[in-house]
Amino acid sequence: MRFSQLFAPTLRETPAEAEVVSHQLMLRAGLIRKATGGIYSYLPLALRVLKKIEKIVREEMDAKGGQELAMPILQPAEMWQETGRWSVYGEEMFRLQDRHDRKFCLGPTHEEMITTLVRGDIRSYRQLPLMLYQIQNKYRDEIRPRFGLMRGREFIMKDLYSFDRDEAGLDESYNKMYDAYLRVFTRCGLTFRAVEADSGAIGGSGSHEFMVIAESGEAGIVYCEKCDYAANDEKAELHPICLPREEQLPLDEKTTPGMKTIVKLCQFLSITPEKTIKTLAYRTDTGTLVLALVRGDHEVNEIKLLNKVGCIQLDMANEEAITHALGSQAGYIGPVGLDDNENIIIVADATVMNMSNAVCGANKPDTHYINVNPGRDFKPSLVTDLRLIKENDPCPHCGAPVKTARGIEVGQVFKLFTKYSAALQATFIDIDSKEKPMVMGCYGIGVSRTMAAAIEQNYDQNGIIWPAPIAPYHVVVIPVSSKDEQQMALAEKIYTELNANGIEAILDDRNERPGVKFKDADLIGYPIKITIGPKAINENLIEIKIRRTGEVLYFSQAEYLSNVKELLIKL
Ligand code: ATP
Ligand code: MG
Repeated sequence: MRFSQLFAPTLRETPAEAEVVSHQLMLRAGLIRKATGGIYSYLPLALRVLKKIEKIVREEMDAKGGQELAMPILQPAEMWQETGRWSVYGEEMFRLQDRHDRKFCLGPTHEEMITTLVRGDIRSYRQLPLMLYQIQNKYRDEIRPRFGLMRGREFIMKDLYSFDRDEAGLDESYNKMYDAYLRVFTRCGLTFRAVEADSGAIGGSGSHEFMVIAESGEAGIVYCEKCDYAANDEKAELHPICLPREEQLPLDEKTTPGMKTIVKLCQFLSITPEKTIKTLAYRTDTGTLVLALVRGDHEVNEIKLLNKVGCIQLDMANEEAITHALGSQAGYIGPVGLDDNENIIIVADATVMNMSNAVCGANKPDTHYINVNPGRDFKPSLVTDLRLIKENDPCPHCGAPVKTARGIEVGQVFKLFTKYSAALQATFIDIDSKEKPMVMGCYGIGVSRTMAAAIEQNYDQNGIIWPAPIAPYHVVVIPVSSKDEQQMALAEKIYTELNANGIEAILDDRNERPGVKFKDADLIGYPIKITIGPKAINENLIEIKIRRTGEVLYFSQAEYLSNVKELLIKL
């Protein structure tokens, strides 16, 4: 490709709307353009990257026995109604109607579609196991589409579904996919970690996420350097902290005007946050008020809370709802005196139950209780692990202090068991002649998010630094002066030679100042830049610059090609 003909409109300025690096650089390097919030066009350079990621994904899926197919994006409501997800999926689903008022959605995922497809044609255990996948656009009306391709409303996903006879088969399929995912992200040249993930109501170790490590990541992850434990912080379990039992003092009230935060309260009462019980109020999708209790120095893990309460959605309760139900504002609410209130669910973190003579809100303005003894002064509806893990908390496996990092979720593998096959009657006749639901797994990779994540992890102040396996082109050839015929002729020769040898090269043949060409080369981030200047003409020295390290090497015309080939394997 010649740069003069390439549609890659680079920008000098960083667009104001772009908050994260990958979004800024993709706009600046002429990779994407926005149509509207969360919806983008992929320009030629971006499409090349996406195709490379897709190729790696396809090869690894096929290697494990996956078969590619293509299912409709436009999906009828009926199959979603059969599983109950038509209502559960909520506002994230793009819904539409045809001219006869029949309801449809744009597929946010394809469990319903594939299960319905498979149930029509799989009858016998002899047809199992089966792994089917597709790579296509998915549609989710995300509440906050942001960060460019990171959280889009239209995005590219690879989704594979496995069908097995039994759980042992599912384990095997799951392990194959887990292994394939390790290979995919390694081949893409990314630094990542597989972590245990929340698997919602299903529980157990039924899911892993693949996280590209990056400061800008939306997910918190914890890992242990002593054992191999790694998890999404939403999932990480914690044992309750053992606390010394104190003699229980009589419950008492204290006036605490304006002491709405733990910090202020502790200063006012000269106590530490470890002596306080923090009460947070939530509302479920059915309107029930949930009070979550953790020790004052701990945070609530909302995913654990959601799973334990067993509701579909959980939002912070607003002041109005809190005042209506409890008679006071946030900052002064607490669990005492609510034991018999059937409209409120109190969920306590297990550590709270080990506390003695603690302080909590009294459900009265400007008032707290002191000497609160959980179990004596209130009895929660549920005692469980509710805490959000933080740096240096004990590793759930070995007890050593955990480390934390930020990650971008680029893939997830998930054991579905018979959730969808049971709901949609996707059954088969097993070897014992019994009819059984197929045992399923689902496995997603965010292809477009992976491209963005690669940039979040690989850039500097000058632009993108593509890992060679997914770079749009491997090499850019830049003649320093486009007016110099000798330079142009040699650049042309090298460009042709590279391409003839399977190295994807681009020739910057524009009539631009060298500075402009070099800047664009760094911005777009080709792994290797070859400069053809006076040295190349007069001394037979071809200049090769490595984008990642800035290292400059010189080779003769006879030697440069083999060296470029060798370098690319390592980049
Ligand atoms: P998230 O928690 O980030 O919203 P998810 O758990 O809803 O993601 P899955 O349903 O597991 O996502 O989808 C599989 C993969 O698709 C994810 O691992 C992610 O890489 C990608 N993905 C999900 N939502 C988006 C989005 N809005 N934009 C881009 N990629 C996405
Ligand atoms: Mg996920």
